[in-house]
Amino acid sequence: QAKGLGRNMVQFFDPQLQTALQLRRSLEQDMREGLEQQQFELFYQPQVESGQVVGAEALLRWKHVQRGYVSPGEFVPLAEETGFILTLGDWVLRKACQQLASWARQPAFAQMTLAVNVSPKQFHQRDFVQRVLTALAEHGADPRLLKLELTEGLLLTDVDDTVAKMVRLKSHGIGFSLDDFGTGYSSLSYLKRLPLDQLKIDRSFVHDVLSNPNDASIARTIVALAASLGLHVIAEGVETQEQCRFLADINCHAWQGYLMSPPVAVAAFEELVRNARAHESLKPCMHTAAD
Ligand code: C2E
Ligand code: MG
Ligand code: MG
Ligand code: MG
Repeated sequence: QAKGLGRNMVQFFDPQLQTALQLRRSLEQDMREGLEQQQFELFYQPQVESGQVVGAEALLRWKHVQRGYVSPGEFVPLAEETGFILTLGDWVLRKACQQLASWARQPAFAQMTLAVNVSPKQFHQRDFVQRVLTALAEHGADPRLLKLELTEGLLLTDVDDTVAKMVRLKSHGIGFSLDDFGTGYSSLSYLKRLPLDQLKIDRSFVHDVLSNPNDASIARTIVALAASLGLHVIAEGVETQEQCRFLADINCHAWQGYLMSPPVAVAAFEELVRNARAHESLKPCMHTAAD
């Protein structure tokens, strides 16, 4: 029967594909219900600069009832495909702005910046700028403390529109970081056109920076590129004291990674900041700053 419908239709009856489709559909349904049932949460990972915690990156977490913890690596791409990322991304933005406003009322946190990941589909929404401004206004959060992390995938469509949106958001003081830099599609000519504030060295380059000379050169090159374009630079995925020192030696003084902390729930993040002065990972950097 299936064969009679032509070559392409045969695939439709592939039981393996059918199962995969069902899984995806149920995962999508679960995401919608999960959001209603408050199973999503933002975790925070400290961002360190010259030995001080200066901010955090907000990273989404999903505590699924049956499947347990589901990694954003698993559900964000699917949410991006189905369009659910628009709903989810809006929730993330509002939650992040609420957190910023709450920190503004506590002196130890009042200057913290908060970086929020924005997916290409979310950014390309016609009313994205308005959505960000609404989220900020809703909670009275300071736009100058909000940083949006974009990826190079964004550049695959409509660079003019991307630049225009960035310019509008920047006029309110919002900052921009280019996430996973070096792993995507951006050409140097795009980089020149985008009104960015920061490049983020992908953790795949940081991982072997001490043992792989190519990764070391790439890291050096990104730092030099950022400097010559007048951009800040931050390294992600810093796990060891040695990686941290290497980065400081090549003039990258901002970093985040397991060396300081993995992403943690807000209470744990606040605890970490309060005790940061005593944190082992910050001591060598503090010495450097004082020398
Ligand atoms: P990303 O934005 O590049 O985030 C960095 C990822 O590296 C995070 O994974 C973080 O937990 C992990 N990481 C941080 N330090 C270290 C380290 O020292 N070693 C190692 N091995 N890993 C480290 P996570 O939280 O699983 O997020 C994965 C990706 O999911 C993110 O990559 C981001 O692209 C996406 N994502 C997370 N939250 C959101 C969100 O709210 N919205 C959107 N659109 N995407 C999100
Ligand atoms: Mg990020
Ligand atoms: Mg990243
Ligand atoms: Mg990365």
